[in-house]
Amino acid sequence: MMKKQLATVLDYYREFGFDALPFRLEKRRAVPVLSPREPCDEATPAGNSDACTGRDAALLALRGKIGDCTLCKLSGGRTHMVFGEGSPDADIMFIGEAPGREEDAQGRPFVGDAGQLLSSMIEKMGLKRSGVYIANIVKCRPPDNRDPEADEMVACFPFLNEQIRIIAPRIIVSLGRIATYNLMKPAQPITKFSIMRERGKWFQYQDVPVMPTFHPAYLMRNRKDKWLTWSDMQAVLARLDELKTKDGIAR
Ligand code: SF4
Repeated sequence: MMKKQLATVLDYYREFGFDALPFRLEKRRAVPVLSPREPCDEATPAGNSDACTGRDAALLALRGKIGDCTLCKLSGGRTHMVFGEGSPDADIMFIGEAPGREEDAQGRPFVGDAGQLLSSMIEKMGLKRSGVYIANIVKCRPPDNRDPEADEMVACFPFLNEQIRIIAPRIIVSLGRIATYNLMKPAQPITKFSIMRERGKWFQYQDVPVMPTFHPAYLMRNRKDKWLTWSDMQAVLARLDELKTKDGIAR
C-alpha cells in the first residue's frame, strides 16, 4: 500500500478511537480494502462504523451491485433473490444449489425442511448457523424446483465467486451434485457426475479446501445416508482444527 493511502486508512481508524490497527493474528483471509467513509448502502448510515466495515461492507456492496438482476431467465419467476446469509467472517461456507419455494418467499437460503436439517447438522457440529455462511449456486428459484440450467449457473456463478473471495472461508462444504459440480468444474458433463462417487473426497476451489457431501433434501429422502454426511462433517471439523492450529489460532 502506498504511504499516502496507509496514512488515510490510519486516520480513518484513529477517528473511530483505535490507537492500533484492528488486525487479527490470522495468516489467511485479507479483509477487502474499502475506501474510507464509503457508506455500505442506503440503509446503513455512513456513521454506523460497526455495521459498515471490511467484509460486511464488501458483501453489502456486492448485494447492491447485484440489485434486481435480470442476467438470466430465473429473474422472471422469482419473488425474492436469495443472496445468502451468515457471518462474513465465517470459517465454513455451505453452498447449495438453488432457492426453493420457502427460500424464494422469504429471501433467505435453506429455510424450508431441508434448511432445518442443515441447521440441525450445523448445530450438531458444535457451530451456530449464524456463525457460518450459507449461499447457493444460483440466487433465484428455478421453476418447479427443477435443476438450474447451464446458462443460469454460468450467469450467476460470478456473484458466488465474489462472495467466496470476500468471506475467504477456511473450508467450503458443497451440498449435493450441482454445487459440487460447479465448484469442481470436472471435465465430464454434469449428467455423468455422481455425488455418491465424489462425496467425502476433498478438492480445492481456488485455494479453499472443499468437502462435497449430500444435499439435505436428498438426506430427507434417503435417511440411511445421513451417517455418510455426518462422517464428511467430522472430516470438516478435523481439517478446520488442523488449519487453525497451523495459523496459531486457539480452538
Ligand atoms: S439467478 Fe443469478 S444471474 Fe439469474 S437473475 Fe438471479 S441473480 Fe441474476
